[in-house]
Amino acid sequence: MKQAMFYAPIPEGEVLCGLCSHRCKIKEEKRGICAVRGAKGGR
Ligand code: SF4
Repeated sequence: MKQAMFYAPIPEGEVLCGLCSHRCKIKEEKRGICAVRGAKGGR
């Protein structure tokens, strides 16, 4: 998996994706609504 741009780590080990208007909060080893971007190792 390639490290993404436009994200920020948030408390409780999740990451906040800022690439589109969904602004998904993604839990570790899960993916956002688009099923493309996901979280691994807090990134
Ligand atoms: S839908 Fe995908 S690109 Fe949009 S915020 Fe969620 S994870 Fe990021």
